[in-house]
Amino acid sequence: DSRLQLVAQRIRSFPDFPTPGVLFRDISPLLKDPNSFRAAISLLASHLKTTHGGKIDYIAGKWRVRGEGGLACGPGPRRRVADLEIQRDALEPGQKVVVVDDLLATGGTMHAACELLGQLRAEVLECLSVVELTSLKGREKLGGVPFFSLLQYE
Ligand code: IMP
Repeated sequence: DSRLQLVAQRIRSFPDFPTPGVLFRDISPLLKDPNSFRAAISLLASHLKTTHGGKIDYIAGKWRVRGEGGLACGPGPRRRVADLEIQRDALEPGQKVVVVDDLLATGGTMHAACELLGQLRAEVLECLSVVELTSLKGREKLGGVPFFSLLQYE
């Protein structure tokens, strides 16, 4: 798929960041290139349309479910898991959510997001990321929640 090539071309790799031996994958070039960004969104949207049709109520990204408290996620009562928090009335019980992040590594962040949304009694239909670091087996941490990624790296 030529869209996938556009996405892959805009993922940067930084050896030995943040510690020696770690190959950090950076999607910021993707965010800066409108054609590639559109390609990524289009691929994710096609996948969601095929898999869930019109069933999705919300897409949760880290601008809504995000790190650090204070003003980060807005006023009012919040729920918090690990370092993620969300306003308690952001979702109604039973609403169907897809969680999206840039990258899945150990799966800890995605798992915490699912946990948090579960506490609001939302139903997580699926988790998505642009990049998946397969050797860290993050998808196994998601306990049965389906997971989909555009690009897989070891
Ligand atoms: P995890 O919780 O170990 O799966 O790490 C995933 C989270 O950390 C995501 O929110 C990523 O943004 C960030 N992260 C971890 N490793 C990388 C990387 O190699 N590149 C970019 N972000 C990363």
